[in-house]
Amino acid sequence: MPGLSPADHVVVVGAGLAGWRTCEELRRHGYAGRLSLIGDEPHSPYDRPPLSKQVMSGKWTLEHTTLATPEKLAAADVELLLGAGATHLDVAARSVTLSDGRVVTGTHVVIATGARARRLAFHHDALFEVRTRDDVARLTTRLSALDPGEVVAIIGAGFIGAEVATALAARGLRPVVLEAAARPLLGVLGEEVSRWLASLPGDAGIDVRADQRIAGVEAVGDEGDAEVVFEDGARLAARAVIVGVGAQPNVEWLEGSGLVLDNGVVVDERHQCAVHVAAVGDVANFAWSGGEAGEHVRVEHWQVATDHAAALARYWTTGEEPGRLIPYFWSDQYGRKIQMLGHPRRDDDVRRVKETDAGQWLGLYSRRGLVTGLVALNQPRALMLSKVLLETPTSLDDALLRAPWDGGPSARGPSA
Ligand SMILES: Cc1cc2nc3c(=O)[nH]c(=O)nc-3n(C[C@H](O)[C@H](O)[C@H](O)COP(=O)(O)OP(=O)(O)OC[C@H]3O[C@@H](n4cnc5c(N)ncnc54)[C@H](O)[C@@H]3O)c2cc1C
Repeated sequence: MPGLSPADHVVVVGAGLAGWRTCEELRRHGYAGRLSLIGDEPHSPYDRPPLSKQVMSGKWTLEHTTLATPEKLAAADVELLLGAGATHLDVAARSVTLSDGRVVTGTHVVIATGARARRLAFHHDALFEVRTRDDVARLTTRLSALDPGEVVAIIGAGFIGAEVATALAARGLRPVVLEAAARPLLGVLGEEVSRWLASLPGDAGIDVRADQRIAGVEAVGDEGDAEVVFEDGARLAARAVIVGVGAQPNVEWLEGSGLVLDNGVVVDERHQCAVHVAAVGDVANFAWSGGEAGEHVRVEHWQVATDHAAALARYWTTGEEPGRLIPYFWSDQYGRKIQMLGHPRRDDDVRRVKETDAGQWLGLYSRRGLVTGLVALNQPRALMLSKVLLETPTSLDDALLRAPWDGGPSARGPSA
């Protein structure tokens, strides 16, 4: 299987981070054949994390987020087909049909169609989302028309909701964040860690309301004004309502292709889902080498998309097997940085192993006595020093003994 030749033609579907990185990495590993990159958005590949941070707070323009500049595209010799989405994949023929009727046939296909913003049952066009450049262009246009102190409601206090609230406060607006759960991030980081983080919004002067039961949102006029209607009949008037309630994988175009679709495209540890067909990034439900036997995960992290692309390109060009992937995630919210390594479950045990008077800490997740992840608040160095605990299976006892977060001599284990 591995060993792409100049006679091959790799067709990458999805011109986001994972798709673009796949192209870059294939070239970096010496692939000299034809390379096509298909995207349904009208934009050259761009980066999403700054959308809810630097762009939303007004520090960057949207142009700053461009990954595939004309120079980089030319250097990578990529044929970019934008503005028409893929509607069908013929797996056996490695043939992709586009919404405008074009058919692109290659020798290899990479599925990198990512995810889109999840919508609530009462979704309508007056609501704002934060997934694409166009979403953010529309939203920032609206925000620019508002006066300082005006209320903007945000539905969902997850990572996107928290980052957007922080950015809106920096613009002088008054974000009101409405969360259905008892605490923000409960579903992602678990009971204990969500409790440790619960004071962050209040410390930053941001109004986050938990246990909110929203029945719907009513548009008032057609410029973005709306009223959030709660199940008990209460209402909240806002100059804009933004929804940040997670994402769902873009797989509908693959229905009927024969590929296994289950919370994304199911792929093996080499990212393969059929002969010469692979999936990477947010859309890939991959066999995770760092997990329990047979465990598949779909992870919506920037670094994971980058790592997938690099691993696939290496495998297809050199035959080198992918190494152990350690998921990494960061979020800048309420003036703090949350970082996470590994893929712990919300019911894993967790304990704080490092803490400072300034409220910075490092938490260690474990399951059945084995370390499963690390989470840090403003402790980037301690987190990275502790990555070693996830590189090979490590018991909790051993981790506590070695305490790599302190950077001491026994950090890398007894033999180091
Ligand atoms: C606002 C925001 C902030 C974020 N911040 C962070 C952060 O702080 N830290 C972090 O780790 N991660 C963050 N992420 C997540 C990170 O950006 C994603 O993990 C990453 O973008 C995944 O890349 P991808 O290429 O797999 O998917 P995407 O970026 O979703 O790209 C997929 C592309 O494929 C296109 N596409 C979909 N269907 C089709 C089709 N049928 N045909 C052709 N094209 C199609 C999509 O329109 C899109 O352009 C953030 C995401 C968002 C939205």
